Amino acid sequence: MRVSRLNATQDPTVQAVVNVRGSMSEEPVHILGAGLSGLAAATYLAKAGREVHVYEIRSDSGARFDGDFQGIENWTSSESDFFDEMRDWGLDPEEFKSNDFDIIDLIHPDDEITNPITEGVAFRVVERGTDSHCIDQGFKRMATAAGATIHYDTRRRPEDCHIVAAGPKESSAVAFGEIFHTDHPNHVSFQLNDKLAPGAYSYLIIIDGIGLICTCLWRKQKRTSRYLNETIAWYEQHYELNRRPIKRVGGKGDFSLPDKYVHDGRYYVGEAGGLQDFMWGFGMRYAITSGVFAAKAILGESDYEVEVRKRLVPLVRASAINRFLMNRVGDRGFKLVANHWMRNQRKKGDGLVFMRWLYAPGPLRLMLWPIVKAGMLRRKQLKDGRMVSRMPFRDSLSRDSWEPSPQAEEIAAQWESIRKGGGSVSFGESDA
Ligand SMILES: Cc1cc2nc3c(=O)[nH]c(=O)nc-3n(C[C@H](O)[C@H](O)[C@H](O)COP(=O)(O)OP(=O)(O)OC[C@H]3O[C@@H](n4cnc5c(N)ncnc54)[C@H](O)[C@@H]3O)c2cc1C
Repeated sequence: MRVSRLNATQDPTVQAVVNVRGSMSEEPVHILGAGLSGLAAATYLAKAGREVHVYEIRSDSGARFDGDFQGIENWTSSESDFFDEMRDWGLDPEEFKSNDFDIIDLIHPDDEITNPITEGVAFRVVERGTDSHCIDQGFKRMATAAGATIHYDTRRRPEDCHIVAAGPKESSAVAFGEIFHTDHPNHVSFQLNDKLAPGAYSYLIIIDGIGLICTCLWRKQKRTSRYLNETIAWYEQHYELNRRPIKRVGGKGDFSLPDKYVHDGRYYVGEAGGLQDFMWGFGMRYAITSGVFAAKAILGESDYEVEVRKRLVPLVRASAINRFLMNRVGDRGFKLVANHWMRNQRKKGDGLVFMRWLYAPGPLRLMLWPIVKAGMLRRKQLKDGRMVSRMPFRDSLSRDSWEPSPQAEEIAAQWESIRKGGGSVSFGESDA
């Protein structure tokens, strides 16, 4: 690996970086970002006996999130269960709380509800945040138990790190959600609806009396909270929720394909490396996997660029092709997708087969790749010199303007009074 040109500095750790890059010596490894990708890398390296330092700008792991539920998918590999893969890498999924799901309510754009179902685990729901049962805290415990040192509230230059795991920088899409108390049993709904979630989908997740209703916006909007209010109104009309709001949450996703995953001797992992699912935004599996791949490369066990291109880029590329196709359709196209999914389930006897097929496109869809690149992605040079093909946040369409329903207005007023009473918002319209 080539030695990167570093600014002259007296910092001995910077010198260590030079040494590692130059000689793959046993010098300390420096990682930027204590999210899932950074901590996965830190755990693997520390378990192998390396001295590891992780630098995190926030005060704790998971502080980027605020108690929202996310799903770890189990469909991008048909060969293994992701938790078994984690165990093979020395990562213990029992360190954090997770709930398995084999069935969802699939809500079609015309409000029909059907049930994709599988025999194994389709996905697991985990909580993001700083509470001890959250996945972020589980990964923090694994990294520290392995011997890594995490420096919180610490800013460090990417140039002074071996692994850049600093998460998304720009917005290609955003998600807004509300967390609430509910009496409804554990449940997951996934709704394809171009009005409530422009270009994307909304979801309802309920785990042990806590619910999350979230809407994803793949087209940029003004006054984004109206989409969330209208989505909540929809779910309230279709499910017995007895919803008591707690807080509102959200975040952004950065979808890009860099020309290289190792740049100037640094490994870019997780969303910092653009490893995200363009279609649905399922980035956690990519984050953990790429963190481990980078650690293996530093230990000389494999070549990061090769592994990422072989194992992850084809999936990201397939998701980008699917996203391109989805961007071309509205609710009518979403209905076709939902119907096709259910037809496929009836034929194959397993709802997960369709999801796997989406990530293993045949030659016809792969032939679309040059069109996708030219039509959906924009070339951009990032501040650190990396060239990426990134998906810009798309403009809104005329059909995105509509008058809120009276129920959504009531939900907006309800939230306003909760907010004034101290209800927190961890990601607002101005963060998008
Ligand atoms: C609302 C929302 C819902 C989502 N739902 C899902 C889902 O259901 N399933 C799924 O798989 N994925 C989901 N994702 C995506 C998933 O959360 C991310 O892809 C994943 O967390 C990326 O991991 P990471 O390690 O790359 O980045 P992160 O987990 O974001 O970690 C990056 C860390 O780096 C820190 N950092 C940033 N800049 C610096 C700096 N300069 N110096 C030091 N530290 C820095 C950050 O504070 C953060 O802790 C969702 C994302 C959002 C926003």
